[in-house]
Amino acid sequence: MTRRVALLGRPLKRRHSVVMHNAAFEVAGIDARYELLEIEPDAVAGAVAEARGSDFLGLGVTAPYKRVVADLVDEVEPDAAAIGAVNNVVRASDGRLVGFNSDGPGFRVGVERAMGRSLDGAAVVVAGAGGAAHAVVHACLTAGAGRVVIVNRTLSSAHAIADRFAGIARGRLEVMAPDSSRVVAALADADLAVNATTVGMIDPGSTLDVAALSPSATVFDLVYVPAETPLLRAARVRGLRAANGSEMLIAQAAIAFERWTGVGGMDGVMRAAVAPLLADPHASA
Ligand code: NAP
Repeated sequence: MTRRVALLGRPLKRRHSVVMHNAAFEVAGIDARYELLEIEPDAVAGAVAEARGSDFLGLGVTAPYKRVVADLVDEVEPDAAAIGAVNNVVRASDGRLVGFNSDGPGFRVGVERAMGRSLDGAAVVVAGAGGAAHAVVHACLTAGAGRVVIVNRTLSSAHAIADRFAGIARGRLEVMAPDSSRVVAALADADLAVNATTVGMIDPGSTLDVAALSPSATVFDLVYVPAETPLLRAARVRGLRAANGSEMLIAQAAIAFERWTGVGGMDGVMRAAVAPLLADPHASA
């Protein structure tokens, strides 16, 4: 029987996950396929129920269903519950569905590679307060970051993250409006500046003033299409360490693959498989 993993979302324009997971299934010699399941909201509960079948290894979950799927599975792992989003589901041998989140650990792998050091003790500025920012802030706090500053256009969303993580933050988390004069000082002190908004991908421009950063800072942009956003270009022109979200994308996929199959170490296979798509500025379909 060919096993299945279906990615639930709407719209599903990108093929990056399909290419990475199907290459890994092939190299690992596993008879399984990863498929896109673009569905309407009223079909999500049925799709999750179907994944209890023995032909399923699990599910991938993307926008806008990361929260709703958390309410439909049998168990949500603590980190995913804390973040408030499930981006993958693994089917246990008895058919129970367990939701987990690989964005946080994937971010940590990608960003620590980019920084060339651990997040432990780091001062971080995060632009954004959406789904990805929740995973980023949670990863920074649990990895021992010394200070995390959230800067977001809609201040109430940033405060919602701060409230959610108050228990683990223990005074390390602050919220600032983008036009606050305190942002310049926070950037000057930062070891790491992260763009976790859609700016650079959907909207032009950039969210962080690279000129305010120290020469030893790293800039990490979660966006990976296009490969070089205006933010990353500015960081490189200043001679800063800078990386896009491709290593996070690969790391979170390899973490999910290991949960579904028990086979680890597929990041190299996935990196090679997805390289042509990452190099193609029009690779969205
Ligand atoms: P989301 O939940 O829709 O959140 C979007 C965020 O962007 C919000 O904070 C929003 O601010 C901000 N934003 C949007 N337009 C803006 C503008 N014109 N000016 C300033 N801020 C703006 O999206 P998400 O799921 O968090 O995804 C964010 C990014 O991360 C996307 O580019 C996504 O592709 C990327 N991502 C990458 C990976 C990876 O593996 N590399 C994984 C997950 C996500 P408001 O609150 O003010 O609306």
